[in-house]
Amino acid sequence: MSPMPLVIIGGGPAGYTAAIYAARAGLHPILYQGPNPGGQLTITGDVENYPGYRNGVTGPTMMEDFQAQAERFGAIVKTGTITKVDFATYPRRLILDSGVELLAQSVIIAAGASAKWLGLPAEKRLYGKGVSTCAICDGFFFRGKSVAVVGGGDTAAEESLYLANLCQRVHLLVRKGQMRASKIMQERVFKNTNIQIWFDTEVKDIIGQEHVKAIEVIHALSKATTIIEATGLFVAIGHQPNTLPFLPYITVDDQGYIQTKKRTTHTNIPGIFAAGDIQDPHYRQAVTAAGTGCMAALDAERFLQQPYRDF
Ligand code: NDP
Repeated sequence: MSPMPLVIIGGGPAGYTAAIYAARAGLHPILYQGPNPGGQLTITGDVENYPGYRNGVTGPTMMEDFQAQAERFGAIVKTGTITKVDFATYPRRLILDSGVELLAQSVIIAAGASAKWLGLPAEKRLYGKGVSTCAICDGFFFRGKSVAVVGGGDTAAEESLYLANLCQRVHLLVRKGQMRASKIMQERVFKNTNIQIWFDTEVKDIIGQEHVKAIEVIHALSKATTIIEATGLFVAIGHQPNTLPFLPYITVDDQGYIQTKKRTTHTNIPGIFAAGDIQDPHYRQAVTAAGTGCMAALDAERFLQQPYRDF
């Protein structure tokens, strides 16, 4: 089996931007979309801050545009999750969930990040029965009902605003005395009379056997507990990078994000590059992910041009 020049892992803004640049450079990239084709943007609503879309665009439409643009230049897009790698040998070995093995001279890891969970036992039991991480996917089922959203960042703000249009009442549970969300999102939440914000409030338990019936919360300062009637709990407390298959080889930071060398997308392994949310604990925007996807393609192109790969 002859190795492919470049395999891109991940079908979000970082992966597709890398594919556009790499395809235009004649590197014949193959991009593998993972279990969530299009990445996190496919479960978001309107994207208003991606430059070039003056009236905003929905996340799924934007990702269709990214894919079509990459394919126009010859990138091949496939579905499949990379579950295991061998970066100790060259060419690099990648193993798909189907068992199929690939060989690649260079790899761009753009596998993104996944939603974090609170870690309550009831959360797993009631997932899909009132517990959700995606208001746009599941909000419709809670029309006219009372729901809770946990988190204080932009995702929690966005989910609360979306649900406030559908639901009878939205309880936003923020564990600190202030939100971390951007000012504009906070203002929108504060102005919305259908959203009740509970500051200094943590989720203690989710009540319900077959379906969520209520949320038990505890006030961080007074330690008083309250039962909030709600048939849904939307968990919006951030994300963790999808690094698991790469961990034996790739160096990550103390938060688990792939470490890249200063001002580049180089990882600790020659010819392996990282782009997007999997290496970015700070910015995590579609536009910054796309920017690092471009950088990774340029880094891979330079790597592949080297006459000798001496390692
Ligand atoms: P963030 O990491 O920004 O925020 C996570 C929030 O969840 C914080 O308020 C945090 O609290 C809270 N939290 C974490 N763990 C727990 C817990 N166990 N119990 C209760 N609360 C908890 O994640 P987001 O997903 O909101 O945003 C990620 C990035 O994506 C950000 O950069 C954001 O700006 C961006 N984004 C932008 C959007 C837009 O521009 N339209 C939309 C959505 C996201 P604490 O503050 O106390 O740590």
